[in-house]
Amino acid sequence: MRIFDPHIHMTSRTTDDYEAMYAAGVRALVEPSFWLGQPRTSPAAFLDYFDALLGWEPHRAAQYGIAHHCAIALNPKEANDPRCVPVLDVLPRYLVKDSVVAVGEIGYDSQTPAEDTALAAQLQLAADHALPALVHTPHRDKLTGLRRTIDVVRESALRPDHVLLDHLNETTVAEARESGCWLGFSVYPDTKMDEERTVAVLKTYGTEKVLVNSAADWGRSDPLKTRRVGEAMLAAGFDEDDVDQVLWRNPVAFYGIGGRLRLDVTPPQGPHEGNSVLRGGE
Ligand SMILES: [Zn+2]
Repeated sequence: MRIFDPHIHMTSRTTDDYEAMYAAGVRALVEPSFWLGQPRTSPAAFLDYFDALLGWEPHRAAQYGIAHHCAIALNPKEANDPRCVPVLDVLPRYLVKDSVVAVGEIGYDSQTPAEDTALAAQLQLAADHALPALVHTPHRDKLTGLRRTIDVVRESALRPDHVLLDHLNETTVAEARESGCWLGFSVYPDTKMDEERTVAVLKTYGTEKVLVNSAADWGRSDPLKTRRVGEAMLAAGFDEDDVDQVLWRNPVAFYGIGGRLRLDVTPPQGPHEGNSVLRGGE
């Protein structure tokens, strides 16, 4: 089973996770920019983070045989913090980098006017850079948030089929599908979507334009949830080609829109800026 995790925050994970993911079949991933769990206090803090997503993290991933790409953005939560919003002006410098395959994650957290502004501005940036956008739909008041998201996408210059609506569930999938966007399901332990519910949605709506991710981060999450969904699909009567479409070909097609996806992995020769996973030494 070959797996592409289209949404995972490896910065928060260990080398044990990389090893286990490789063993489970993960060969590629996209790490979207997000909130670190506590507030950043200046645009400079974002730039150091973006640089890590472009340098150190792909370096770590390559040692475990996994192709690492990222999505760059001001995340929905910090779009509300006036100390952070100026980072929007610096994003164009990052959106031209080779391993940036999307703008993301953008979207709504608390559905505020500041989030409206940041979402619209970043959909425009995606269109300007011929990149797709990864859009986080809110965990609270989901259907209202989804409708508001689709309205902003429709008003934007970005085509709906260049947008991935993520964190969908049974209450939002039908309207998300009608919008013409790609459909993302984040599978978590205990809360939100689990693998059985995801398979039930796939039974109802099919496998076309559907992506499944672990969204693993610093919170309670599991980087092997993609594999678990693949196994649950097979147990429910889907065939290996269906699993390959959802776990590999669909994410390759979506993130391939900008023409920057490179799925071959070259193990790093030497350290990254003087450091390695052995903490400095070779
Ligand atoms: Zn995320």
